Amino acid sequence: MSRFWSSVVHNLSPYVPGEQPKIDGLIKLNTNENPYAPSPHALAAIAATMDRLRLYPDPSATGLRETIAAHYGVTREEVFVGNGSDEVLAHTFQALLKHDAPLLFPDITYSFYPVYCRLYGTNYETVSLDAEMRVRLADYRRPGSAILLCNPNAPTGIALPRAAIEALVTEHPDKLVVVDEAYVDFGAESAVPLVARHDNLLVIQTLSKSRALAGLRVGFAIGQRPLIEALERVKDSFNSYPLDCLAQAGAAAAIKDDAWFQATRARIVASREALVRGLSELGFEVLPSQANFVFARHPGRRGADLAARLRERAVLVRHFQKPRIEDFLRITIGTDEQCSRLLALLHEII
Ligand SMILES: *Cc1c(COP(=O)(O)O)cnc(C)c1O
Repeated sequence: MSRFWSSVVHNLSPYVPGEQPKIDGLIKLNTNENPYAPSPHALAAIAATMDRLRLYPDPSATGLRETIAAHYGVTREEVFVGNGSDEVLAHTFQALLKHDAPLLFPDITYSFYPVYCRLYGTNYETVSLDAEMRVRLADYRRPGSAILLCNPNAPTGIALPRAAIEALVTEHPDKLVVVDEAYVDFGAESAVPLVARHDNLLVIQTLSKSRALAGLRVGFAIGQRPLIEALERVKDSFNSYPLDCLAQAGAAAAIKDDAWFQATRARIVASREALVRGLSELGFEVLPSQANFVFARHPGRRGADLAARLRERAVLVRHFQKPRIEDFLRITIGTDEQCSRLLALLHEII
């Protein structure tokens, strides 16, 4: 603390990301990174762009936005890109989610959302997930300016079908609905095809998980032109060059390499099904996941204790010290070898 701090800084409670320790032979299943390498075409495009580092990058990332637009069947003007989807979310909070009536989001969801609310002074209310940890749409029939859902939800992994998102945006034409689809590529239905019909829908995705580019920092939003324009206004009042030239080139090549994308996500989905079976055999209750992680608890073991014992054995999983979920572990889907090692260690511990 310092007397030079602003009152905003005094009142912040920053997000704490999963740890990134340097431990030999560590199996990292705590931050939902992809266990496989990114597309070789992305790496080649990054290497081929090195000679442009002397110059400023394209401030509006035109080529990357055209590639995303072509891939998702929208126009370039309906795409906004940012330095990771966390930055896209931050701009969304500032540009579109700050109003007199509260922003609504689930009590159990991505824990960055309340952090942004404090940073931007956004009035919000949380809506409880039901007893099965599902989002119940009827619970959003209450006063509010906007609804923010992570779909599939984190850390539960449970997804709503596209029809449910369409019912929500149709029922609430005067609320903006923002859908954070960080994990959608692992088996859920994207709401992007609804954007053309609904001016109150903004969909946010990232290349960090399904395209294995967490280190490159690229995320994007798709929505109708007035929503995207709001994000551009904030971006151009904050940082004209959020994506460097390497990120723009690598991300575009990764999106174009659909064969690599399909192959790795299929591997991760197959490994997830095997891990769910293994955990169930050990007595875990596992929530139905459509993400690259599972959320599971053991009836006879405290979550904190299991996470600590795994850590002693050089396996990191994510544990949240939070009511309702304190006995759950969020386990990222690793390679098959990593998942087998985890199951063997859990067998030994339990
Ligand atoms: C990982 C994650 C993000 C952030 O992704 P980046 O693009 O790496 O910033 C956003 N939302 C959710 C729910 C996530 O899990």
